[in-house]
Amino acid sequence: MTESTAQGGARVGGKVALVTGAASGIGLACAQRLAAEGAAVLLTDINEAAGRAAADALAQTGARASFATHDVTSEPIWEQVIALAEERYGALHVLVNNAGIAVAGRLVDLSLADWQRQQAINLDGVFLGIKHAIPAMLRAGSGSIINLSSVAGLQGANRLAAYCATKGGVRLLSKAMAVECGAEGWPIRVNSVHPGIIDTAIWGTIAPTALEEGANAVDLDAMTATVPLHRPGDPGDIANGVLFLASDDSSYMTGSELVIDAGLTA
Ligand code: NAD
Repeated sequence: MTESTAQGGARVGGKVALVTGAASGIGLACAQRLAAEGAAVLLTDINEAAGRAAADALAQTGARASFATHDVTSEPIWEQVIALAEERYGALHVLVNNAGIAVAGRLVDLSLADWQRQQAINLDGVFLGIKHAIPAMLRAGSGSIINLSSVAGLQGANRLAAYCATKGGVRLLSKAMAVECGAEGWPIRVNSVHPGIIDTAIWGTIAPTALEEGANAVDLDAMTATVPLHRPGDPGDIANGVLFLASDDSSYMTGSELVIDAGLTA
């Protein structure tokens, strides 16, 4: 018997994963996919009600899944959730640093507080996650750290300068940590994932400040009309890539950037 649920296989059977920002969107899809493929998953999010409901629903499918409230900007809480993963499931092998926000607007209109909030969640949060996951992964004997960057970490985007700065930072933080883990002789892989335009709640928070005057909603279909696959992505499209990086199928990959964008940056 594997640990997988009836719907899935066991591509990450025996592994323990922690997914941040797992109450919705891409993080939720990652948690569901990892659990369906046999991982024990600790879902964390600052949104306690939605995160707990998501974990409970997953547990009801037979998956080993549970929830912890977690603000990724807090170092003491990072220490607690990593300890919790080890306490509940015996180890930590996979960290998906997914929690993120998008502070949109012309840079000249952003306050320093806007800028700092953007950096704190998207970049400080990833730094803290890597820092505190590494000792646990060394105790586990191996690890895979997967950091959610964006196509906005590869190229500039109008009215998303603060966001782009964080996602570019996540890209090179991931590569530098791949190099550092290798130099230290640690069996830990670090990769970044670069989604294109994915249909999640984050776009509702970007409108209307990222839009041209007069517009009042982000039209994902219009935004993707000219990309090669002509459609917005589903969170599951990103979860499939995250599952691959979490699994031993990607055991020769570290420091890589996995672009899942329907050809947007091609
Ligand atoms: P989402 O808004 O659906 O999910 C983000 C989650 O992060 C939410 O559940 C939210 O509660 C949580 N969160 C916010 N602040 C937090 C904090 N301080 N601590 C812990 N959790 C916090 O958005 P999504 O689209 O699923 O985004 C997930 C990741 O993917 C983000 O890093 C985002 O930048 C990245 N991304 C998304 C897209 C896209 O088109 N949706 C494209 C590229 C990259």
